[in-house]
Amino acid sequence: MLEEILGAIRQVIVSGDLAGGSFVEEFEKDFAAYCGTKHAVGVGSGTDALWLTMKAMGIGPGDEVITVPMTFFATAEAITMTGARPVFVDVDSKTYTMDPAAIEGAVTARTKAIIPVHLFGQTAAMQPINEIARRFGLRVIEDASQAHGAGYHGRKAGSLADAGCFSFYPAKNLGAVGEGGAVTTNDGALAEELRCLRNHGQSVKNHHPVVGWNSRMDGIQGAVLKVKLGYLDDSNALRRCHALRYTAEMAFSQGIMTPMEGDNMTHVYHIYALQVAERMRLVEAFREKGIGYGLHYPVPIHLQPAYRELGYLKGAFPVTERCADQLISLPMFPELNTSQIDAVVKIVKSIGFSCKAA
Ligand SMILES: *Cc1c(COP(=O)(O)O)cnc(C)c1O
Repeated sequence: MLEEILGAIRQVIVSGDLAGGSFVEEFEKDFAAYCGTKHAVGVGSGTDALWLTMKAMGIGPGDEVITVPMTFFATAEAITMTGARPVFVDVDSKTYTMDPAAIEGAVTARTKAIIPVHLFGQTAAMQPINEIARRFGLRVIEDASQAHGAGYHGRKAGSLADAGCFSFYPAKNLGAVGEGGAVTTNDGALAEELRCLRNHGQSVKNHHPVVGWNSRMDGIQGAVLKVKLGYLDDSNALRRCHALRYTAEMAFSQGIMTPMEGDNMTHVYHIYALQVAERMRLVEAFREKGIGYGLHYPVPIHLQPAYRELGYLKGAFPVTERCADQLISLPMFPELNTSQIDAVVKIVKSIGFSCKAA
């Protein structure tokens, strides 16, 4: 794949089609087809994808957007950047994605949209979420930044709501060689508005009907992503295979909870997070043995200093806060091999957690 990628980069540089342009358009066509939507619009990052989608929907000051505090900071940050206010609801304790039962209590006259996050590679419960949105006349935007290729009732992430926002940050399941993002949608007018906003609000050159921003995707990223998209299903299959091995090996261990795949969902394991009440002991063991681990996310967004002004207190979202204290992410990437997985499992099992856990 590396030679193919280097060849694609060379082709872009030689062509001079570097900022937006034909390589981005080709990737957009392929990515829309892959996700099962009519349109895909390449932008500068996943954060921009979220921000510009809300802007294109007319969301701004005075509005509220419902999302979860159990996500990467960018989901809430993009809402704030539109001038709207993020309103949080807790996540489900098994899937770690938006709890549909919590949404209705958070809807006010100012609510304009809901942003469920397909956390760790598994889609949120989109049917009930879309149903509530329909009832209250709200838009739904998928934050699919961790879920390239994830499935829900036979359809792909990005095709399950009004718009799907993706990040191609290098570490994502589909990663660029730098920054990138995209919005998928079946709404032609929304796609058109996004194409305008990402290019300084220009409809045609030097004509600016609205104020936009510079969030074009690089030609190099478009060309590289087009190559890597061809390998996405294979690399997701490897991730699923590794996850299955982790889960099978640890299934009957006391004090830990392995990730759960919901009915009719295809988890693509961007992150394999284990829930362990005594997380510190595992962190220490991993550090000692030199095993890489992650914490996603140790400080929930409603408790971040930047959002003190929103007025949320500790205890507001018990499931999210428990996840912040107890989740630990194990090594997970397509190139992982079984002996590496078994070495990690051996460390987890050697600890002997008490059964009060998880
Ligand atoms: C990575 C990520 C983003 C932001 O994407 P960038 O490309 O880094 O701007 C947004 N939401 C979630 C859930 C993410 O994981």
